[in-house]
Amino acid sequence: MATGGYAGKILRLDLTSRTSSVIETEKYADWGGGHGIGSALFWDLCKDKTVPGLDPGNVVTIMTSPLSGTMVPSASGRVEVQGIGATSYPINWFTRSNFGGRFGGQLKYAGWDGIVLEGKADKPVWIDVVNDKVVFRDAAGLWGKDTQETQKLIWKTKDAEIHGWTEVGKSRDAGRTTQKPAIITTGPAGENLSTLGCLVHDAGNAAGQGGFGAVFGSKNLKAISVVGTGSVDVADPAGLFAARMWAKEEYAAKAGQPAEPNGPSFGVDPAAVLMYGKAPDGPRGPQACQGCINGCRARFGDGVANESSCQETSMYKVFDVLAHGVGTEASIIATDLVQKMGVNSYELMQGVGYLYALGKMGVLGAGKEIDTDLDMSRVGETDFAVDLITKIANREGIGEDLANGFVRAAEKWGRLEKDFAAGILDFPYWGYANHGYDPRAEIEWGYGSIMGERDMNLHCFNTNFWSVIKHMMVGKAMPVSAEEYAKIASSKMVPYAGDTAMLDFSTENIYSESIAKLVVWQGHYGRFWKQSALYCDFRWPDFTNYNRDDNVGITGDGEPKFWNAVTGQDITFAKGIELGRRIFNLDNAIWALQGRHRDIVKFASYIYDKKLETSLVGPLYPMSGKVAGKWEYVNCVGRSIDRAGFEEFKTHFYALEGWDPKSGWPTRATLEGLKLTNVADALEAAQKLGAA
Ligand code: SF4
Repeated sequence: MATGGYAGKILRLDLTSRTSSVIETEKYADWGGGHGIGSALFWDLCKDKTVPGLDPGNVVTIMTSPLSGTMVPSASGRVEVQGIGATSYPINWFTRSNFGGRFGGQLKYAGWDGIVLEGKADKPVWIDVVNDKVVFRDAAGLWGKDTQETQKLIWKTKDAEIHGWTEVGKSRDAGRTTQKPAIITTGPAGENLSTLGCLVHDAGNAAGQGGFGAVFGSKNLKAISVVGTGSVDVADPAGLFAARMWAKEEYAAKAGQPAEPNGPSFGVDPAAVLMYGKAPDGPRGPQACQGCINGCRARFGDGVANESSCQETSMYKVFDVLAHGVGTEASIIATDLVQKMGVNSYELMQGVGYLYALGKMGVLGAGKEIDTDLDMSRVGETDFAVDLITKIANREGIGEDLANGFVRAAEKWGRLEKDFAAGILDFPYWGYANHGYDPRAEIEWGYGSIMGERDMNLHCFNTNFWSVIKHMMVGKAMPVSAEEYAKIASSKMVPYAGDTAMLDFSTENIYSESIAKLVVWQGHYGRFWKQSALYCDFRWPDFTNYNRDDNVGITGDGEPKFWNAVTGQDITFAKGIELGRRIFNLDNAIWALQGRHRDIVKFASYIYDKKLETSLVGPLYPMSGKVAGKWEYVNCVGRSIDRAGFEEFKTHFYALEGWDPKSGWPTRATLEGLKLTNVADALEAAQKLGAA
């Protein structure tokens, strides 16, 4: 039953038999939404959790949250994708990805909280969802098309329904819409089973990490199109409106207020222009995910690189600048092409750096140890980017090796250990590319990634770094001292509130129990509030907010206020963190079944053996920390991770989670305390249950 933000049903699609059925959301509602429900569905429906990501037995979930399609700021438009991925090395972990836009809203308006994908179609198909009408359609005419062509072709077939306010359904609200269907599609890279393959929606929303484009390809699934004419049942509409006005009044920038370089937290970030990747002149308008007041992307007069920001716009820029001294159209065209071919820009960025280093060493090139017709003298030029991206997407030439990921290519070339040792293969955790927030400096990012299953992409504490850098760039003083930042942030970090040492990133502290608390908290906050409630990682949490005199952000108050208004529940911020703990435990149980053990939880060798020489902005990586007992923004460049120290951290981490410190596996007591007795039983049967 549709109530309190939930549509009430989940669409289960069996691609093998081309049939659909319904799962009642209520059965999974105690997992909240998004990732929580996705993990629980995967646990129940994936019979063999040890299969690789491209196996037909893999089960994929695409989940919304109760907040999707509502007016909750920076939460309404995000969607969580889960399943066994194709990217991670050496094991394809059960993993996640996330994308924005308007797909989640349309799915809810069509009457669905999420989609489950099982099996494999015998021929390419796309799924056509219009309210509760679900049709498996032949995708022969779409296979081989790029992500933008695919969407345009689907829109064309749906013309009669999307133009002219046509009635599109009778069973739910019997409505009409002016909306185009929202489509998530794989590109040529995913069709060709490249582990760099991502899913793309509209022009620039992508589930980039995890290789879910390849997982779609392995299921012969080209795209899912959704349009709906219903609405979301909000428990307390007046309360939701009041909450949004409260957030605006208390936390957003006011008209005429001087712009802060790293703010405002609610409203358009003046620094977002840096992320657009194109000069701010010429026709341009801000663009945002559904319901977001932030508008962190842009659309341009010429349409090139539309809706792209941040990573994908900077992916090739470093090489472009290296070649030309400034960013040129080379980086913009590369940005556009990865979106069209459905290639993960994170892996490509570090991968180009790896190829560049091999080229400089004389190892890679025409007639060299790694023979390729890629013209290494053209790195930074448009033709090199187009050649490389196309080769990977189509598995041509060297692209045949690179399509399996740069780490697997290095392994095939017999170079894995030596290139890790040299630090030129910058893939520190589980075969994922360094996000740029290096584990040696921003330890919560690195530790969170290796204790999880992927480059974690949680910016909870990364604003610490960017805030200092951006203020330095414009010659302004930080609005808060390092000590104030640590006090404000730690005050909100229940159940560890008040331990300021959690925000001490100085070298002396990075193996401590307090840092383990930081990483545990981040994982639990992330699993529920960001990945299940689907608050956008770009805007939440909001620890410090420079629009306010006291600089104290909305986090802790904001998340449950919006959640409760939509759902009619009365949960606290701490309850959400606790739900995140339950979800993280279930995920770790799945990883244990897949082969996770404490002994394999380690970074690539260069993280221990080589000192970090630079951050994204030079030889400076400021994070809050203590030097000789005094707080300051300490520079974290110049250090490496100590192996024994990291093992100490792991022991603290496992103890805080209540897991067996010897194996890292969950224990029966911990799982039963979380009402996961069935999970404990399954682990015991597989001999993967941690000792009490
Ligand atoms: S901050 Fe950006 S990515 Fe996040 S919801 Fe808003 S527009 Fe989307």
